[in-house]
Amino acid sequence: MTKDNKRFETTVIHEGYDAKNMHGSISTPIFQTSTYEFESAQQGERRFAGEEEGYVYSRIGNPTVSVLEKRIAALENGERGLAFSSGMGAISAIIIALTKANDHILCSSGLYGCTFGLLTLMKEKYNMSYDFISMDTKEEIRSRIKPETSCIYVETPINPTMKLIDLKMVAEVAKEHDIPVVVDNTFSSPYLQRPLDLGCDVVVHSATKYLNGHGDVIAGLAVGKKELLDEVSMTTQKDIGGMIGPFDAWLLLRGMKTLPLRMDRHSDNAEKIFDKLHSHPKVKNTYYPHDANHPDYAIAKKQMKRGGGVIAFEIDGTKESAQTFLNDLSFVKVAVSLGDAETLIEHPATMTHAVIPEEERLQMGITDQLIRLSVGLEAWEDIWEDLELALSKL
Ligand SMILES: *Cc1c(COP(=O)(O)O)cnc(C)c1O
Repeated sequence: MTKDNKRFETTVIHEGYDAKNMHGSISTPIFQTSTYEFESAQQGERRFAGEEEGYVYSRIGNPTVSVLEKRIAALENGERGLAFSSGMGAISAIIIALTKANDHILCSSGLYGCTFGLLTLMKEKYNMSYDFISMDTKEEIRSRIKPETSCIYVETPINPTMKLIDLKMVAEVAKEHDIPVVVDNTFSSPYLQRPLDLGCDVVVHSATKYLNGHGDVIAGLAVGKKELLDEVSMTTQKDIGGMIGPFDAWLLLRGMKTLPLRMDRHSDNAEKIFDKLHSHPKVKNTYYPHDANHPDYAIAKKQMKRGGGVIAFEIDGTKESAQTFLNDLSFVKVAVSLGDAETLIEHPATMTHAVIPEEERLQMGITDQLIRLSVGLEAWEDIWEDLELALSKL
């Protein structure tokens, strides 16, 4: 149940929009405007002074974008949502808002490459520091918190090896020290995992992936307490300016309506493909959160409704075998990104994770033979036949 007691599947279609105020238009109108006329100079004065609600300029607010922001807030069960021009726009606005020069950030042991890039930039420019830790136990987290730690930043499942972090446990330790926990919920979407319900403080999304689901928009979202998100809205969102455009917001609203259906189908397909991969002689290790043999299965069952659509697996062979395998596929597309209707497959060691030094990369389990598969919405039998044929040629 979300905050107005409607179920998720209803909220994702209706929240934040009332057709009665929009000439009965069932589809949310696209307010493709940069600015808004004031009724009088005095009204302009009141709006700028914050004494009257209303739109001023689309970097600060837009009616189409507002619907999206209300909807994602309800889906994540948070007080306020904000929309950005990309996942990185959302992530940078939140991290910059929560930290200052010389601060320390405690991170999960795997991070999206550009999030890592942002932290590196902040380290170089503002003398900040960060540590990557496994976050397996409360003791470990406690022992790595410093007086200047101002943020705990977590991804779970961790891309691409699907290691999980117990969000409730992390939130409990963070509360003891009054440190906000930010969770990148891109891989699960709020349909499968709701970090705010587990005590975390802010959720960020690359809405480019499952939330939109159709591979035709780059967008980001953030949800959390009103007080913090109000501040983000008036500082790092407004002044850095990573605001989403009205048309992209509309595409996202449209894509999100089918999120529950798509996530169930992605999960159904992934479970089937995982079983097949798991028992194939040319495949070594397979990683999927809802696999009973997964070391973090207990966490998966506790905090993820289902396993989602991403599987990682190792080819029994070399880097060249992995590349040959990708080249031998037919409709399964060799591409980065995930969460689209199309099944996408990539080679993390030379693509998404190529910037990580080899030793670190291997420590993270990202070997030269590892493949990441974003299982799409096609018939699972066809996906498997394509994978199986390419495997059989190895
Ligand atoms: C893609 C991705 C991002 C970045 O999002 P963009 O929309 O590409 O800016 C951040 N985190 C995760 C986990 C992602 O997969």
